[in-house]
Amino acid sequence: MSNFAERKPHAVLTPYPLQGHINPMLKLAKLLHLRGFHITFVNTEYNHKLLLKSMDPKALDGFTDFNFETIPDGLTSMDGDGDVSRDFQSLRESIRKNVIYPFRELLATLHNSAKFGLIPPVTCLVSDGFMSVTIQVAEELALPIVLFIPSSACSFLSALHFRSLIEKGVIPLKDESYLTNGYLDTKVDWILGLQNFRLKDLLAYIRTSKPNDLMIEFITEVVDRLNKASAIVFNTSNDLESDVMNALFSMFPSLYTIGPFTSFLNQSPHNHLTSLDSNLWKEDIKCLEWLESKEPGSTIYVNFGSTTVMSFEKLLEFAWGLANSKKPFLWIIRPDLVIGGSVVFSSEFVNEISNRGLIVGWCPQEKVLNHPSIGGFLTHCGWNSTIESICAGVPMLCWPFFADQPTNCRYICNKWEIGIEIDTNVKREEVEKLVNELMTEEKGKQMRQKIHKLKKKAEEDTRPGGGSYMNLDKVIKEVLLKQNQT
Ligand code: UDP
Repeated sequence: MSNFAERKPHAVLTPYPLQGHINPMLKLAKLLHLRGFHITFVNTEYNHKLLLKSMDPKALDGFTDFNFETIPDGLTSMDGDGDVSRDFQSLRESIRKNVIYPFRELLATLHNSAKFGLIPPVTCLVSDGFMSVTIQVAEELALPIVLFIPSSACSFLSALHFRSLIEKGVIPLKDESYLTNGYLDTKVDWILGLQNFRLKDLLAYIRTSKPNDLMIEFITEVVDRLNKASAIVFNTSNDLESDVMNALFSMFPSLYTIGPFTSFLNQSPHNHLTSLDSNLWKEDIKCLEWLESKEPGSTIYVNFGSTTVMSFEKLLEFAWGLANSKKPFLWIIRPDLVIGGSVVFSSEFVNEISNRGLIVGWCPQEKVLNHPSIGGFLTHCGWNSTIESICAGVPMLCWPFFADQPTNCRYICNKWEIGIEIDTNVKREEVEKLVNELMTEEKGKQMRQKIHKLKKKAEEDTRPGGGSYMNLDKVIKEVLLKQNQT
């Protein structure tokens, strides 16, 4: 190993093992690599297998100073072949209990390799907020650890208030009827930083009537550990979420907005890591060719992310709403999107959309969003999808499903005014009407202008001298490199 490599800082990054967590963490790894870090990126064995299956098996090899390692996720049922549908609760429990040991062992192995001069010694850890059990290992090894929160800052802020929600008797809900009896419309005016919020806009995990709900417990545990991290970072910018950030800065002194990562990477010169990808499903790239045949701004892109599921009845409402809108559409239907089985459309529907609609199983989302023919995005409002849509300047139709999606939806539709919400109980007439509103009417035009302003602002923030750019510098110099300097 050269002297230069010996001096390189070495960051070990640990995403939570779901698509929406791995993608932004890989982007953060790329940003650190471009700033001179040696990177070890740690996936679970199961996900690593899926990654290799979804792309060229050598796609992760051969990058200088950028290595992939694996740890088991502790679930025995993960030997399935290619099925990425998950029992999220078991996964969470397993990570909580089982990850620490193999992670500790991995760091010991890396330490040995460093002793033999094969890699630089590990100097810092970067872990997903949901993987914060790794803080224990950072403490044992006296390494700085940065926690990366892959959700929006606004949904994170609502998680910080779970305890107060319990103390105030707001959660758990009295019974299941409270999910639909209007209770969730109750205004929440006591969380500093969240304006015009209702209970239904908070993290959807509050929608529980169980006294000891495991997700509430898990999040509370994560929140309790936050103060032990050397710093907390978000894939957002101060401009995007200023009210929330002001509230958060007063609670955590070492908290930084360092996004949007997409904007950062788009502007990074000599980005030799572009081909490094993290898709757990095989991408259908033919859809990009298909988009070439469509007029600029004419096509609506429909994608509900990696974990949303729906009934076949709801899928049919979307299907006919899209078909009746008469607009071209590209729709991603994951093999496990529909509860209870595969999707077979009637020949009537297939004939109706034959020249206008393309349905595939998974796509390179950012390439699609940035394709000139895309004029709108029907999304479940995952934070990555939201931020990728902002970076591409594409306004949204929102159908939030769970987790942080209702919170993001509130921001998209009410704060930034760059999207329109579709009712949970989706109906084809509404889909048809809103697709047309978004794609061709004045309301859509105004949203397009607003999102373009946000896109430009994101580009400024991630350019040298911009807020997020300077924050990333600070995190690197004042936190991640701290050990190197002592
Ligand atoms: N994604 C993709 N192709 C698809 C669907 C999703 O590349 O067909 C990527 C998308 O770009 C995003 C991530 O998967 O980075 C989904 O994350 P998000 O937070 O939007 O939703 P989640 O899957 O976590 O619900």
